[in-house]
Amino acid sequence: MPRSIYVHVPFCEQICHYCDFNKFFLENQPIDEYLALCEKEMKLTQEKFPSQDKIETIYVGGGTPTSLSTEQLKRLLLSIKSHFPLADPVEWTVEVNPGSADKEKLAMLKEVGVNRLSIGAQTFDPKLLQAINRDHKTSDIERTVHMSREAGITNLSLDLMFGLPNQTMAQWESTLKEACDLPIEHISAYSLKVEAKTVFYQMHRKGQLSLLPQELEADMYEKLREVLEINDFQQYEISNFAKNGLKSEHNLTYWNNDEYYGIGAGAHSYVNGVRRANNGPLPKYMKALRQNALPYLEEHEVPVKEKMEEQMFMGLRKLEGISSETFYERFSLGIHDVFPDVIDSLKANSLLEEKNQFIRLTDKGLLLGNEVFEKFLLAD
Ligand code: SF4
Repeated sequence: MPRSIYVHVPFCEQICHYCDFNKFFLENQPIDEYLALCEKEMKLTQEKFPSQDKIETIYVGGGTPTSLSTEQLKRLLLSIKSHFPLADPVEWTVEVNPGSADKEKLAMLKEVGVNRLSIGAQTFDPKLLQAINRDHKTSDIERTVHMSREAGITNLSLDLMFGLPNQTMAQWESTLKEACDLPIEHISAYSLKVEAKTVFYQMHRKGQLSLLPQELEADMYEKLREVLEINDFQQYEISNFAKNGLKSEHNLTYWNNDEYYGIGAGAHSYVNGVRRANNGPLPKYMKALRQNALPYLEEHEVPVKEKMEEQMFMGLRKLEGISSETFYERFSLGIHDVFPDVIDSLKANSLLEEKNQFIRLTDKGLLLGNEVFEKFLLAD
């Protein structure tokens, strides 16, 4: 049974050009009714799948949770507290956009029990911030970090992006330096992917987007690893780095292929071996809950074969890799018996290595993750 819960707040004050998340302009949205229906979803979820274990990680993401008023956000957080049994301690993360959290909101987060913030910085370069249509300035990032610490929230993560249109290596290095100079514990850094239904996708189709050559993007990834290592951030996942062991326990739920509840429009969940996706559009999500039904768009009972594939795709993202022992405990089958030739051939190509019962990506494998993962697709 899940020990983690994800709650989605699908409202934003401005839409970023690269974003394909489930989100809507904040203005004129029925926020209060949405919050009431999220609470109803929590209640119905508990009735259908009562928690047998305490919740160890909560992640409130979006969208932009901090685009809600202090009162609205507090109401949502208290709903979580009243419907799910929380472990002590619990890792409780809220996503914060620089500039959309003031002292009052941060003090409320601390008071309710939030102890980790994921701050969407993306880049410190003012021109690039504008090019990707973020609604904050460079100075907002530093201000948000300092205000968060002053409010007593001291486990802070920064989100960064590289491979942005026209981004130079010098701009990327300068962003990394500014990030490392801040009192933060964690960095997540992803390269730009041009996804369908985004402004960048339209621009790309019209030939108006100047994407970086793959080699430069790979060099930026190497620079990321190099600079963060020098600054005492330990890499523990393809895109994630932590100081003092402060990894994202919530995201480890996904990489360990463990179960989690998902609440809110477009949220996904994995409970009792079934993956479910909620309706994304607000009218559909809200209509189902007004009629006291859970707002599922689709449900998929994951067959064992798929569970084993997912275990590999997700687990290999972690730098420590996959434990053969855990694989055996979960499936009563040896990892080498299930993937007999694949592991050997990836090892022969220096993409995987095996040490102390753990199978992990090599440095070369880290750069070619997707190519490695697809080799673990099992025949029907
Ligand atoms: S703030 Fe976040 S969710 Fe909203 S548009 Fe930008 S990236 Fe997407």
